[in-house]
Amino acid sequence: MTPDANELQDLVRELHQQGTAWVPCGSGSRLDWGAPLRGDCLPVSCAGLSGIVEHNPGDFTISVRAGTPLEEVQEALAIHRQWLAVDRPWGSQRRGAGSLGGLVARGLSGGFRQRYLGIRDQLIGISLLRADGTAARAGGRVVKNVAGYDLMRLFCGSWGSLGLITELNLRTLPQPLIRRGLLVQGSLTELGSLSQWLLGSGLSPERLDWWSAPLAASAGLQEAPLLLIALASISAESLEQQQAAIAGQTPLPLRPLAAVDLESLLALARSDGAAPASGEPAADGSGESLAEPAWLLRLGITPDRVPEALAAPELAGLAIDLAAGSGLGLAWTLPAAGTTTGLDPARLFELRRLCQRLGGWLIVLQQPQGSAVPAWDDAPSRPMIERVKHLFDPKLQLAPGRLPGVANP
Ligand SMILES: Cc1cc2nc3c(=O)[nH]c(=O)nc-3n(C[C@H](O)[C@H](O)[C@H](O)COP(=O)(O)OP(=O)(O)OC[C@H]3O[C@@H](n4cnc5c(N)ncnc54)[C@H](O)[C@@H]3O)c2cc1C
Repeated sequence: MTPDANELQDLVRELHQQGTAWVPCGSGSRLDWGAPLRGDCLPVSCAGLSGIVEHNPGDFTISVRAGTPLEEVQEALAIHRQWLAVDRPWGSQRRGAGSLGGLVARGLSGGFRQRYLGIRDQLIGISLLRADGTAARAGGRVVKNVAGYDLMRLFCGSWGSLGLITELNLRTLPQPLIRRGLLVQGSLTELGSLSQWLLGSGLSPERLDWWSAPLAASAGLQEAPLLLIALASISAESLEQQQAAIAGQTPLPLRPLAAVDLESLLALARSDGAAPASGEPAADGSGESLAEPAWLLRLGITPDRVPEALAAPELAGLAIDLAAGSGLGLAWTLPAAGTTTGLDPARLFELRRLCQRLGGWLIVLQQPQGSAVPAWDDAPSRPMIERVKHLFDPKLQLAPGRLPGVANP
């Protein structure tokens, strides 16, 4: 259903009275990812809830309706040389970048988190409809915020299980005047020491991402582990100094890049066959196609153990993109490798155990039909999560079968 803004509250009240199962939905680009929804569940789209309510360039804040596409917000901000400091969501080439409400509800981040933190740290206020249709608000419109329950953080990563987000107040940032991407390939040990030095240095890169060798190969590069470094500054001179400081720390060659994030780099490799690094030979066609991967996983690993994870046989053959500073990222099967990566539910459980041994966790976002691996393991805080769920959604109508941190809700 796609109600318009003034029909929405009545619709939610009606669904509550009838006890109908429903799920909040943005543009529906990734509604199927994660734990499957149980039974008949009505998607309630926020497409009719779109547009920028107010942009205050002087205060660096913006209020947007939840169904507004991310691109629309970035385009409007770019006119004022501002941006929302978030990555384009993974898979944007195939599925689009989705809505702001979906971005917040999923609470996932990419490599820009290294410098700008996650979406939850950029959210200063939220408006929502609870399961019974009651409208609620938290936070404010200004960066210096009011006190009260921090519903912003609760709804980040709620996956549509607690209520429907209607409006978001976010902080914006000035666009960096100059950016430079650098790509370094070498052994895990060489890259590990460069990464450790960079994280402890005063250079504050915008991002520092590890790529597995198969991901590098799929982008038409040498099949070897890779570090993607993004630098930003207000002057070209300072960028040169930063690059020289990095070059002084490693014998490995630094290659300048035409783009600084994974989605743009892969798009570049695909669009005209040009490899992402400037001056590199063209991709050989074995690179990532626009086909959906059979498996898509979200990983978290203690940051200093990322090189160990990349060397583990459990992760062999997978495309992996992990942020060096947080240890968070994605792994997926490459269509070219298809079933030869041999990822099946049994290996997936080994992989989950590996992540846990390395201080982290694994979430299954996408899996082949019929494999039925739980998207999440039970979190230690499961009883608390369930209590919160009962408070917000007493009839358990919202997103049945899908509650982050609970294996089988
Ligand atoms: C670097 C990066 C990587 C990402 N990778 C992934 C990924 O691999 N998989 C993934 O699923 N997401 C990923 N995301 C999150 C991604 O941004 C969202 O999935 C996307 O924005 C969904 O937008 P949509 O409007 O199509 O939402 P939909 O696909 O319609 O919904 C996505 C989820 O959000 C909920 N939702 C949507 N709108 C609302 C609302 N108004 N109120 C309450 N809940 C709502 C839905 O119930 C559903 O659980 C990533 C984000 C970043 C920054």
